[in-house]
Amino acid sequence: MTDSIITIRAQIADARRAAVQGGIDFPRVVLVPTMGALHDGHLTLVDEAKKLGDIVVVSIFVNPLQFGPNEDLSTYPRTLDADVAQLADRGVSLVFAPTPAEMYPDGDVSTRVVAGDAGSTFEGRTRPGHFDGMLTVVSKLFHIVSPDVAVFGEKDRQQLFLVKRMVRDLNVPVEVHGVPIVRAEDGLALSSRNAFLSDAERRSALTLSRALEAAASAQDNGIDAVLSAAQSVLDAEPTIDLDYLAAVDPATFTPVTSPYAGSSVVLVAARVGATRLIDNRTLAVS
Ligand code: AMP
Repeated sequence: MTDSIITIRAQIADARRAAVQGGIDFPRVVLVPTMGALHDGHLTLVDEAKKLGDIVVVSIFVNPLQFGPNEDLSTYPRTLDADVAQLADRGVSLVFAPTPAEMYPDGDVSTRVVAGDAGSTFEGRTRPGHFDGMLTVVSKLFHIVSPDVAVFGEKDRQQLFLVKRMVRDLNVPVEVHGVPIVRAEDGLALSSRNAFLSDAERRSALTLSRALEAAASAQDNGIDAVLSAAQSVLDAEPTIDLDYLAAVDPATFTPVTSPYAGSSVVLVAARVGATRLIDNRTLAVS
């Protein structure tokens, strides 16, 4: 593990050279960006990364730029030693875990990547500036690591959409690969923020995946039925504070309206106690 930009670049260059010497003419570097507090969702991304290339780099950075003033930057779970040990168990030794000062030596940046219209809806509406901060750090990580491939989870569906858009809009030479959501046995989407949930809150949190399950059961009855099935499940659970429930076209990330047939992503975000959770599910609506 290193917290230094110069060192991670040197380590990646060494790994590329070693791979060439080992007979791989054009080794592929795969980057998995994370904020740490690693769980099986992250580790699934790592396993996917191994299949997609020859050299896997995991970054661990809780990016201040993507947190709003009243968000959980200071309390966000940080478990660096355990994360590095888990990655070593998985065969990953190239771990880049910079400090905020390493990434933002001037305290902030005056140049940012702007997420545009699709960055100001859903998560972006509740968290103004979040996606500009996220795209800015992802862009920095791409410049630091120069990966051939970057792996992101579908758990953060709008993030994945926006990273793909940035790569297309700015001709970034990185292939972006999405990985399906990893869930606990009972359906709860794994998240570092689940660590904040009490037992009772964790039970309430299951409402999100149950609402998406209900939405999926209604997918043959049209988009209105999909949304009302999910809404009924959410309405029946007074302990959660719904932020949004919506169905979007995965190609544009804009809401779909009836009549609609085709692929649609149902998004849900809610507060459970003090913890904000998100989930989504892709449906074939007819
Ligand atoms: P985070 O550390 O929360 O920023 O997440 C780092 C990456 O892991 C992001 O691309 C997330 O979408 C992905 N991720 C987080 N949780 C899951 C999950 N349950 N299933 C799949 N990917 C996930």
